[in-house]
Amino acid sequence: MDRVDIVIIGAGVVGLSVAAQAAREDRSVLLLERHDSFGRETSSRSSEVIHASIYYPPGSLKATLCAEGNELMVDLCRRHSIPHKNTGKLVVAVTEEEAARLPDLLKTAQESGAKGVRIIDGGEARRLDPNVSCVAALHCPTSGIVDSHALMQYYRAVALEGGVAEAYSVEVRTLDRRRGGYLVGVREPTGEGFEVGTRVVVNCSGLGSGEVSAMAGMDIDEAHYRIFFRKGVYFRVTRGLDHLPSMLVYPVPPADATVGIHTCPDLAGGMRLGPYDVWSDGVEYSVDESLGDHFYEACKPFLPSLQRSHIQPDTAGIQAKRFGPGEPSRDFVIRDEADRGLPGFINLVGIESPGLTASPAIGKMVAGLVEEAL
Ligand SMILES: Cc1cc2nc3c(=O)[nH]c(=O)nc-3n(C[C@H](O)[C@H](O)[C@H](O)COP(=O)(O)OP(=O)(O)OC[C@H]3O[C@@H](n4cnc5c(N)ncnc54)[C@H](O)[C@@H]3O)c2cc1C
Repeated sequence: MDRVDIVIIGAGVVGLSVAAQAAREDRSVLLLERHDSFGRETSSRSSEVIHASIYYPPGSLKATLCAEGNELMVDLCRRHSIPHKNTGKLVVAVTEEEAARLPDLLKTAQESGAKGVRIIDGGEARRLDPNVSCVAALHCPTSGIVDSHALMQYYRAVALEGGVAEAYSVEVRTLDRRRGGYLVGVREPTGEGFEVGTRVVVNCSGLGSGEVSAMAGMDIDEAHYRIFFRKGVYFRVTRGLDHLPSMLVYPVPPADATVGIHTCPDLAGGMRLGPYDVWSDGVEYSVDESLGDHFYEACKPFLPSLQRSHIQPDTAGIQAKRFGPGEPSRDFVIRDEADRGLPGFINLVGIESPGLTASPAIGKMVAGLVEEAL
């Protein structure tokens, strides 16, 4: 295949959702992925939470696409039997000081589009989940969890059914503007390579999204497209699960701009705690065993039955952030870069959390940009 209508770079949950929505009989779409299968990076290392849109600045892409994605996700999971559960979520205040911060959080959540969110007292929180301890909480009834692998399989099946071609173990190395589109150069594991011409390129390359923007000739520092790696570490609860909540339980967000270490129940009845976030120089997934005490201390105030001996190191994942240590948080970038001299280069940069939740809404938004570009 030397020339196609659309090249999508990256087969994570976002690239697959875009592929599912871009697929049409009368156009050729090629999905390129550097690993030998889909979902080998961030998309298979998340908390798998369907977020309600509580924390993001109202009006931001994160807030609007999360709120829309929450509804679309639940609907498509129901219609296509994708394993998921509407667990609900509590953001728990364990002191009166923390309780005093809940009204601000409620206001942000309501303005961000979260549905049915309200403040409840400690008694009502315990009636919802007897294994939680708090003086008050924010209750988010639309939060839940999803089997992210099954979700990706679903998007991929829709894409393939719609005629999308996929190529694995190929890394995009060059991206040159040509009359009427782009020439995409890829390298195969053998060291050999090939080039594909295309009218439209969609950059869904996650941790690689800054590099791919640079390949297209953009100044990624001026555009704030440089990607910083933020590693999130998890511990697994191996015992005492009967006395832990089945809901998602989060602390009132700490001052470090994270959502704090929370419960991550899974659909198989297991539970992780996390993530604990640290900046990382590169992509590596080691988990520091010595963090166990910190996890225990962080969760014990709202999980009274948790024992230190019940938790063990588990996995880690890496978020693609558009800001580094000490910098203010930045929104998702989802745009056609026509105004930078790159028409038809549809760029998705910094798709960190809530990218999984937002994925159906991102796919829809990008499909609109693709229509305009073709
Ligand atoms: C610890 C953690 C917890 C999270 N929890 C949640 C949560 O609970 N809920 C939620 O909504 N979101 C969550 N997220 C965020 C969510 O996981 C991401 O937003 C989402 O997975 C991003 O998907 P993606 O497709 O953009 O990236 P990826 O899954 O990383 O996919 C990008 C793909 O592009 C490929 N690629 C990169 N460069 C190239 C290249 N040059 N050539 C070819 N292929 C390339 C990569 O190999 C990769 O497969 C979490 C993330 C982390 C790290």
